[in-house]
This record gives sequence, structure tokens and C-alpha cells, in this order.
Amino acid sequence: MRTVTMKFGGTSVGSPEAVSNAVNIVREAVEGGERVVVVLSAMSGVTDALLNSIKMAASGNKWGYLSTARKIRDLHEDTLNILLPPSRLREKTIAQIGALMDEYVEICNAINVLGEATPRIKDAIVSFGERMSIRLFAAILSHMGVNAVPYEAGEFLITDGSHQKAAPLWDETQTRIEQKLIPLLDEGITPILTGFIGKSLDGAITTLGRGGSDFSGAIFAAYTSDELVIWTDVDGVMTADPRLDNRARVLPHVSYQEVGELAFYGAKVLHPKTVQPILERGIPMRVRNTFNPTFPGTLIEENGKPSATVIKAVTSIRDVSLLTVSGKGMIGVPGIAGRTFLAAAGAGANILMISQSSSEQSFCFLVTDMTASDVKGKIEGELGAEIARRDIDRIEIQDDVVIITTVGAGMRGIPGVAGRVFGVMGAHNINVIAIAQGSSECSISFVVSEADLERAVIALHDLALESVAV
Ligand code: ADP
Ligand code: ASP
Ligand code: MG
Repeated sequence: MRTVTMKFGGTSVGSPEAVSNAVNIVREAVEGGERVVVVLSAMSGVTDALLNSIKMAASGNKWGYLSTARKIRDLHEDTLNILLPPSRLREKTIAQIGALMDEYVEICNAINVLGEATPRIKDAIVSFGERMSIRLFAAILSHMGVNAVPYEAGEFLITDGSHQKAAPLWDETQTRIEQKLIPLLDEGITPILTGFIGKSLDGAITTLGRGGSDFSGAIFAAYTSDELVIWTDVDGVMTADPRLDNRARVLPHVSYQEVGELAFYGAKVLHPKTVQPILERGIPMRVRNTFNPTFPGTLIEENGKPSATVIKAVTSIRDVSLLTVSGKGMIGVPGIAGRTFLAAAGAGANILMISQSSSEQSFCFLVTDMTASDVKGKIEGELGAEIARRDIDRIEIQDDVVIITTVGAGMRGIPGVAGRVFGVMGAHNINVIAIAQGSSECSISFVVSEADLERAVIALHDLALESVAV
């Protein structure tokens, strides 16, 4: 029997209409003879509201977090009242959501008293969104006759203890899924699982990072399913962010590698780690629209089809900073770059792009804005002796920049693609600050001033649009 993991994002469970579409998609698949593992996000806006309430609690704004609790409770209750007739099931589910919100308020009270929240407590707070949405969804689906049962993913998805950016412990997770989740499917249960959250070995709730439900979906798909479907609010993976350029078109086929680059370089439609668990098992993934369920969406698998114009999509990342390490004394001195990146890792930074000039008088790399000054401090500490000797002159931060990336597997081995990309930038008078091409030759990334972001994306998007022109 075919098994499919279906992940529904925040907007796909964000309103009574959305939930109604989503439960129907699951019901139809189950009625069609498929086994379905459902992975859910919190209702849209709930994760942001929960994170915000941590700040309110820490700063003594009790009214603020109590009113957030009220709003979140109402959102779930209203949805249940619209989608379920008065019944014991409805009352029971409303009571469960009420109990979770009471627990949430208690934790906020504790934060209020202490005046701060540890990462572990933050994860506990933010987990309530998904813990509520699964109960709501399972109740509505069981009312439709599907044997749906909600489970908190921590029963199966075991992670390390790095709160807010936890990494799965693969072997432990696989064992739990095989021993505890697959038997549920065998019994004919449709499990409704929380996305985004897991549990560490010491029993604390952890989260996989913002947008992490896609990653959860892929983890569950890897050990249970023949296919992963990411149900979201757009028709598929598109040639550009439709919010930046409304000419964006759906790409019918994309390879794992292409989608990995797209997600890493800012296409919000998928969490960057989504392909990781399914890639080596060759499990195909589709991105589809909950609000347009007859549309086939984008199919992502091993060998995507190269497109005529080579460039398939354009993405961008804002809120990044460019750090430049420069000095004439660096020439030929081994180890400076290595020590710099280790120092950056020590500051918890994720390096998004690296570029070095051939003269070796400087190299630069990009990190998120939030980490930039910590990174600079750590590098100054690490390279203190070189700075004192003036081998290194400067470590500079430039924060009004963005990364633009063009993605397309067909770039491999085809000369002139970079020339076209930078030709377009030149023609639009956009200054390129730094350039990097990954060795996979599946993407070209470069840095421009933030003020040029939209113009650069729109100009490059023309190249990608030629490939999907019908
Ligand atoms: P979900 O709540 O379903 O996880 P997200 O908001 O995280 O949805 O991701 C979907 C959004 O990603 C879309 O609404 C779209 O605005 C944005 N997006 C950015 N780049 C792309 C792209 N290249 N293709 C499709 N969507 C994109
Ligand atoms: N609810 C979480 C978030 O908003 C996870 C997700 O939706 O993927 O980040
Ligand atoms: Mg998302």
C-alpha cells in the first residue's frame, strides 16, 4: 500500500476555509486507498504571536501575553465551532486546547517572575502552536470518518539539545518511527503529527528552527513514505518569489540539488534542510497548493529537467551582512581563512556565501545581520596577533547588502551563463560587490546593495521566465 506524507503549512491550516480544504485533501487520499502521515504547522500567525509573547512576559507585560492567549484560544475555538457541529468531540477538543493555553499562561507567568526565558523555555512556549493545530485537525478529520489521531512528534523525532535549532538524531528517530509510528499506520490510523518540534533525549521539547515543519515532513517521509507532499499557499516552486515579482511562474520539475540551492538562498517556500532526509532515499517530493488542489504543482526528484535558458529561478536573501577581512600581510599565509571561519562558527554564525579575491589581499563572507557583530568580535579575538602586526588591516561589516542567487542545474558545463547574469546586472547599472559560484555549478550567487534588490531580481527573472515561456 502506498504511503504519503503530507505537510500542511501555516496558511494551509490558518482559517476555517483552509482547514476544510486540507482535511478534504487528506480524506480523499485515505478514501483512495493511500496511507497518509500528516505533518502540520501551527495556524498562521500563531508561532509569531507565541514568540512575541515571550518578550512580553520577560518585560512584565502580563496583559500582553494574556490577551495573546485569548486570541489564540479564540482562533482555534472559532475554527472548531465553524467546522464541527455541537458534539462531545467538539467540546473535548475545545477543552484540550483550553488546557494547553492554561499551561502556556503558567509558563509565561514563570517567565514574568524570572524576567527572562532560556532557549529551552522558549521552545516549550513556541511548541504550543503545533500542539494545538494537530488536535483541531484530527478532530475535524475524525468527524469526517477518518481514523485520525494527533501525536506530538517528540514521541518519534528525537533531536540533540540545541534548542531553537535542534538537529535530528537520525538513528534514534528512525528506530522510534519504525517501532512506534509504522505500527499505527498498519492499524489503519492516520497520524496527525506536529511539525517543527521534537524532543531531546532528556525529554525537553526542542524546535527545528523557523519554517522547520517542512524539514519535519521530510524526516517522517524518509522513514515511512513513497512520496512527500508539501501543501502550501502557492502553486509550487516558482521562478521567483511571487511577492517580489508577480510574473513568477511555477516550475513543473526541479531537481533535489536545485531546490536545495533555492531554499538555502532564500526561497521561503521550503526550509533549507527539507531535501536532506529524502535525497539519499530518492523519495520524490511535490510542492502543491492547498487552495488549488487540482493543480499538479512542482515535482522534485533526482534528475530535474534542465531548462532551455539554463537559469530556472532567482532568489534573494535580505538581512545579511558582508564581513571583509583584508590586509597585505595575508598573502600566502595559510590558515587565516580557516581560523576566521572557525571563529565565525564559534559565534554561532551560519556562513551563507564566501568569496576571495585572487590577490589574496582580502576575502569576504556573508552571515545573517543578527550574528555579524558577534562574528566580528570573535575574529578580532582570534586574529589579534595578526592585527597587532598589521598583517591584517581591517575587519569590516557592511550591512546594507543582499545576496541574489540564480539557480539551474543546466549551468554545469555551459559556458557563458555567468557572463549573461553579470551582463544583465551591468546593463541595469547594478554594482556587483562580490561573487561566488558553488562547485556544484548549480547556482551563482552575488552580493548587491539592498537598494538594488528588486531591480536585480526583476532583471534576472527575465532570463528565468524565458525558460518557462509557453
Ligand atoms: P507555509 O506556511 O506553507 O510553510 P511559507 O510562507 O513558509 O508557507 O512559504 C510559502 C511562500 O514562499 C509563498 O507564499 C511565497 O510567497 C514564498 N516564496 C518565496 N520564494 C518562492 C519561490 N521561488 N517559489 C514559491 N514561493 C516562494
Ligand atoms: N510554525 C513554525 C514557524 O512558523 C514552523 C513552520 O511553520 O514551518 O516557523
Ligand atoms: Mg514554510
